Amino acid sequence: MRKNGPELEADMSKTPAVARRTALVVGLGISGIACAIALHRAGWLPVVVERAPARRRGGYFIAVMGVGRSAAADLGVGDRLVDHRAESMTYVIDRQGNRSPGLSFADIPINPYLTMRGDVEDAVWKTLQEVAPDTEIHFSTTPTAIEQNGDCVEVTLEGPQGVSRRWFDLVIGADGIRSTVRRLAFPPALGGLQRLGTMICAYALQEDLPTLPSGVGGQIIEPGRSFTVFPFDDRRSTVLFSWYAADPDAERKGKAAEQIRKAFGPEPLGPILEAALGQLETSEAALFDIAEQVRLSTWYQGRVVLVGDSAWCPSLYSGMGASSGLAGANVLGKRLEEHGDDIAAALADWEATMRPRIAEFQKSAGTGIGVFTPASDKAIRIRKRAMSLLTNPIVRWVFSHVGKFLPVMQQRERPIF
Ligand SMILES: Cc1cc2nc3c(=O)[nH]c(=O)nc-3n(C[C@H](O)[C@H](O)[C@H](O)COP(=O)(O)OP(=O)(O)OC[C@H]3O[C@@H](n4cnc5c(N)ncnc54)[C@H](O)[C@@H]3O)c2cc1C
Repeated sequence: MRKNGPELEADMSKTPAVARRTALVVGLGISGIACAIALHRAGWLPVVVERAPARRRGGYFIAVMGVGRSAAADLGVGDRLVDHRAESMTYVIDRQGNRSPGLSFADIPINPYLTMRGDVEDAVWKTLQEVAPDTEIHFSTTPTAIEQNGDCVEVTLEGPQGVSRRWFDLVIGADGIRSTVRRLAFPPALGGLQRLGTMICAYALQEDLPTLPSGVGGQIIEPGRSFTVFPFDDRRSTVLFSWYAADPDAERKGKAAEQIRKAFGPEPLGPILEAALGQLETSEAALFDIAEQVRLSTWYQGRVVLVGDSAWCPSLYSGMGASSGLAGANVLGKRLEEHGDDIAAALADWEATMRPRIAEFQKSAGTGIGVFTPASDKAIRIRKRAMSLLTNPIVRWVFSHVGKFLPVMQQRERPIF
């Protein structure tokens, strides 16, 4: 299945397949793997290139909502996608670990699956291996030029064997928020990255934190900065730092732990944050980045289409990136199948189906920042009041039964087809 060496060179010299239409999928994340499955299901031949030398593992906490679960079911992922929610409580804590009842993703009434990015990638990867075990996958390979020529797209690829050219009927950029496909095929006038004002750092713990054994969640919320511990039923928690940054570019150039120390100072960090930062310094797979969305006026140009974070990254604050990546891939496969040879019609129909829901997910990130990283003392006070109301046992019970009918929940639950 994996091709890296001379085989790649041989493949790259081939001219387009005649019998089955070929699609280049750039990126082997959730959206890219899901696209490969969806294209295969639609009768296409997907070819995947991934910049990294191997598949990633682990990652950080993510919630998969109904939108993503129904797409995954449609793609044949079935019970490979598993809920790893911890049954215990999540608390609002202070820097010393003093607790009061809090809320977490587990309290969302539509029962999202609580898992890790790597688990979802594993689930779609195993499905791809099952349904299309011969899919060509080239690691350490990236596109460096994309040219459209009537009915085909010529892509220059750089891999371990050097540079080669290949022709495809369709190119799918599923290469994440800083997409190369977007840079190569979408003029800047169509849009791009939009900053949300915060920095984020997420990683998996190797050891429990003081006062927070595995399975117990917690959140320290202070004006302009927060620290969240996401618990699981079968492994150590993952954590997320989120804070407002005056100069995100300068912060991103620095070391994550040092920037967090500055952002959470000058007060003493206390035992929980100290222990978490100690583990960040030895973590090999921490994500440290500027929080951004992608806003584009269209997600396709001719026969080049973007899916997932590359197209619309709603950001972690919406909690919908993985779900919408799965849905985007699933719907793309369906529309290509329905429209047959008319690829332009398929892409237009696909975008028309996806756009209204994606717009809602992107909008919801504004509320998400307020929940995760309230900007001021006043915002904290409002949050505290809402929290004490929502953690009241009677209100909690009512919310768990009727909350699923709220439009904001329906948007996340209702499948996109
Ligand atoms: C802290 C955090 C919490 C989150 N929480 C949630 C949540 O609760 N719910 C939710 O649904 N989503 C959540 N998300 C968002 C979710 O993780 C992403 O939306 C999703 O993983 C995006 O998947 P993707 O496949 O589109 O992109 P990516 O995961 O970025 O994958 C892109 C792939 O393309 C590869 N690539 C990049 N450039 C190239 C290139 N030039 N050539 C070849 N390959 C390339 C990369 O190596 C990678 O494998 C969260 C994100 C973060 C950071």
